Amino acid sequence: MNRNFKDRMAFYFKELFPNLFRMDTWLKTIVNMIMAVIHPLMSVLVLKCILELIKNGRMDVYQLLTVAGIYTLVFIISKSLNLYLEGKIQYIFMLDRNNIMIEMIDKIMTMDFEYFEDSEFELEINQAFMGVAGDNIGYQNILVRTFRLLPNLILIIIFSILLLKESYIVFIVSMVSMLINLFLATKIAEYANKARPAIQDESRKYEKYKEVVEDFKYGKDIRIFSLKNRLLDNIKNFMNRLLDKQHKVDEYRFKISFLENLSIYLGQFVALLVFTYMAVNGQMTIATLIASLTILTILSNIIQAVNQDVTNVYENIQYVILTYDFLDSNLIKSRDGIDYKFQGPIAIKFDRVSFKYPGSDKYVFKDLSFEIDADKNVALVGVNGAGKTTIVKLLVGLYKPTEGTIYLDGINADDLSMEARFRIFSVVFQETEPLALTVAENIVGVENGINRERVKETLEKVGLWKKISSLENGIDQNVLKVIYEDGVILSGGENQKLMIARALYKKDTSVMVMDEPTSALDALAEEKIYKEFDSYMGNKTGIFISHRLASTRFCDEILFLDGGEISAKGSHQELMEKSKEYREMFETQGKYYKEFENESL
Ligand code: ADP
Repeated sequence: MNRNFKDRMAFYFKELFPNLFRMDTWLKTIVNMIMAVIHPLMSVLVLKCILELIKNGRMDVYQLLTVAGIYTLVFIISKSLNLYLEGKIQYIFMLDRNNIMIEMIDKIMTMDFEYFEDSEFELEINQAFMGVAGDNIGYQNILVRTFRLLPNLILIIIFSILLLKESYIVFIVSMVSMLINLFLATKIAEYANKARPAIQDESRKYEKYKEVVEDFKYGKDIRIFSLKNRLLDNIKNFMNRLLDKQHKVDEYRFKISFLENLSIYLGQFVALLVFTYMAVNGQMTIATLIASLTILTILSNIIQAVNQDVTNVYENIQYVILTYDFLDSNLIKSRDGIDYKFQGPIAIKFDRVSFKYPGSDKYVFKDLSFEIDADKNVALVGVNGAGKTTIVKLLVGLYKPTEGTIYLDGINADDLSMEARFRIFSVVFQETEPLALTVAENIVGVENGINRERVKETLEKVGLWKKISSLENGIDQNVLKVIYEDGVILSGGENQKLMIARALYKKDTSVMVMDEPTSALDALAEEKIYKEFDSYMGNKTGIFISHRLASTRFCDEILFLDGGEISAKGSHQELMEKSKEYREMFETQGKYYKEFENESL
């Protein structure tokens, strides 16, 4: 949402401006102000001095050299100090900006998962990031520009007073022209701010496509299925719309800048007439006339610079407001839950749970109720799209039920803090990809240090040790090539084993969930997991999801999810007798296995 003038000014003076007068910045700000003011003042003074010397006919080389020497010295010192201080200030505010950015990234990684679904929210995050996106935008840009702006404002005051001394008409005309300029500057900024969300939305879509094109995961499909032209068309469309919207802002900027310049030059024209008239009538010496006209020229340059800075600062305040709003917003609904520590396996109960995804009108299930006893290993089976993975996402707390309650060992899961909730579960999610970290870091995370022996044991258990130990850096080998050139690319099955190793490594959890953990594994690796199934599940409540019904015979109990409800529950034998749908599904799958076995013989 665009803020009005008052809100922006309040934010600027409360949150941003004081940063120029902090312990580590105030001295730099003040010294910079003095140095930046001295130089233009000196130029006018020196000019006037030389003109006076010439007029009095007392010009000698010694005096001229002294004046020019002092001027040059002051110029060199003040300019060097300005550059040095500006560099320092840039660095200080860059550090601030990085810290804010890290805070934002931290927030994104801990916010409620459901926000990822929301494209409007994604746009909000993009806008909030604009506030800290670079040296020339947002927070850092505002403060560095203000740092430069302050001496210019002082110069405007000093020069205006000097002009007032000569002619109040010129003073008034200059002031009016400056105020018109500042007013127009805020108009440009407001227009640009209004156009920004639409521009960013186009740019977000274009970036998404660009990511796809650059990601080698999609490269195969794009080539084989000739998706190139379709993608290119879309990218061109988004780019054109982006440029079109951007162009409109530039046109507006151009029109308004024209008015700004017009007001400055009209002001100058009036001043020129007044001063010349005064000089002709003997109310002003030629030296004062030349000095005054010089002041006018310098002043108009300063006003133009101030103008650009004000437009820029005013426009950027909006982004930083969004950054701060984002940081202040509460994106964790159950922030203050109980930090309960469960010991050993726990019972799970879904009580009349209904759920639809954010932004969707369609319920995945309604009034779903089932119970899993502690220490039981249950299989959750059902056709694709039945809602098995959704149950897992609700169980671990990534989403909240739309209605109904989930109980963990009798405790309403919503009463737990998210940390307590996440601590309970080891999960092998479907289609999880490793991160661009080392093998060991992918397995352990890095919070509590890496137990290398346990990493090795876990890798052995999932049958990945042979592969990892053959890598140049073993468990310290980087994974993926997106960041490190020496990163190893693992196959789909190896990735899956790595993800299982991660779930096994996580200690002291009460529930182990495996969602289609063997979908990318070869028959031997799959068999190994089935054989060691009990030790994989450990002393935990186990939930094993698979669409391959044969694989669920290792479980104590099977929950058959069909039509948005657990339509049958029991052992394989019981389900074969009780549920027609289960029997049909099993027999269809069995038929192909048998045919395949017969053909292979
Ligand atoms: P299963 O794991 O049984 O194959 P899922 O739980 O993944 O099924 O999906 C259940 C239903 O929810 C499907 O109709 C699917 O289209 C829908 N669905 C899954 N994820 C989302 C999502 N992020 N947003 C909206 N709908 C979703």
